[in-house]
Amino acid sequence: MMTLPLVLKGNIRPFYIIGGGEVASRKVHTLVQAGAEVRLIAPQAGVDIARLEQRGAIQVDVREATATEQFEPGSFVVLATDQPELNEALAVSARQQGCFVCRVDDNEDNDFIFPAVIDRSPVMVAISSRGASPALTRHLKQRLEAYLPQEIRQLGELVEELRSEVKKRLEAPLRAAFWRKFMRSNVPELILARQPERALQLSERLLAGKDHSSGEVYLVGAGPGDPDLLTFRALRLIQSADVVFYDRLVGPGIMALIAEDAERIYVGKAMSDHAVPQEEINQRLADEAKKGKRVLRLKGGDPFIFGRGGEEIELLAQYGVPFQVVPGITAASGCAAYAGIPLTHRDHAQSVRFVTGHLRNNTCNLPWSELIHPNQTLVIYMGLSGITEICSQLIAHGMDASTPIALVEKGTLPDQKVHTGTLATMPELIEGRTIQAPTLTIIGSVVSLHGKLAWRPELDS
Ligand code: SAH
Repeated sequence: MMTLPLVLKGNIRPFYIIGGGEVASRKVHTLVQAGAEVRLIAPQAGVDIARLEQRGAIQVDVREATATEQFEPGSFVVLATDQPELNEALAVSARQQGCFVCRVDDNEDNDFIFPAVIDRSPVMVAISSRGASPALTRHLKQRLEAYLPQEIRQLGELVEELRSEVKKRLEAPLRAAFWRKFMRSNVPELILARQPERALQLSERLLAGKDHSSGEVYLVGAGPGDPDLLTFRALRLIQSADVVFYDRLVGPGIMALIAEDAERIYVGKAMSDHAVPQEEINQRLADEAKKGKRVLRLKGGDPFIFGRGGEEIELLAQYGVPFQVVPGITAASGCAAYAGIPLTHRDHAQSVRFVTGHLRNNTCNLPWSELIHPNQTLVIYMGLSGITEICSQLIAHGMDASTPIALVEKGTLPDQKVHTGTLATMPELIEGRTIQAPTLTIIGSVVSLHGKLAWRPELDS
């Protein structure tokens, strides 16, 4: 069977629904929503159907349908009785009367079928498997629903409104080029980011041929590594950027989502070798955006947690370059979840503290005595090289040497490993192991739950 998807005006011809069961009722609702004229014939119908009839939304004929029903020529007939012979006979007769037939009990005998629909009117996405598997189309619909923000509706409305204006102002040959420029511009993203005024202003400028450039910087948290942990907005912006500035915490799984023709610029820093000075990164973000590009600054985890995200947008704010900040799952959340270590727990910790344990001149300058709190989980970012010092300083400042500690290596990635011990045993324990960055340290009684709550199988080394 070959099929052709078409979009039909809801009220073009009457729809007859024969049968009053659940399937019939679903079709009735779909049709009513589309503004169709619905005539239902069924010996009995549910309350929802009765309600629609009361509202005057449909006509109901309460009786058993017969094989000799008369239909208006050219109308659509949905056969949904529970009697296959009757459906069969009605299909033949309806076609003789010039009607199109949909049999819900026989996938082979259909002139039309109802696709699964994602409704962002005026935008609609229809999914069909030629009737082969409604379960599959429903499944796909659900998956796609999540990728299509509700705001697509507003984008559709804006474009609908603009169309007549464009027709008035631009000659036919110029229109297609305008729409291409429009779709590639920042307007769609501004609508999705719920900034309709800016979207309108930019549309107006584009239409006046004044300004094609509408650069913007997206400071996006890419999460701890597993691409599944991106937010929908992060994914959208990653896919739409013209230039991407990234560093070493952003893994290959996420880099693969960047548009093929986007420019990629590595600005990563290894501990001792600062690839690109921070001021230069800040400046380059601004420069690229001023050229009219959509600039993505991808950061591991969350951009505002030990990520210098604040510094990077300061200059943009000063220059008046527009930007968006998209939060990401920070390493502490990602590692804790994937290691089965709740950061707080009523029996173990009522607070959690994130600190960065960066080494300076081979010592960590952390406020040690402040970190020693009962019932508090301590999370240390960038702590691997200082782990021995961290353990001994905490013990020296009064933390119990038997306090559990976990080192989460490459958290949320396929080769994640969780090393656990106590403040007393950890330094020796890791000496015998090769541990790869990035690692995150979690200290506190909650770590003892790892044995019970770990849920991710670890790859053998
Ligand atoms: N902005 C980031 C943190 C940047 S600091 C965030 O919110 O997560 C970099 C430190 O984060 C690393 O040294 C390491 O301690 C931690 N980190 C980031 N990703 C990690 C991962 N996948 N596994 C373990 N630690 C990670």
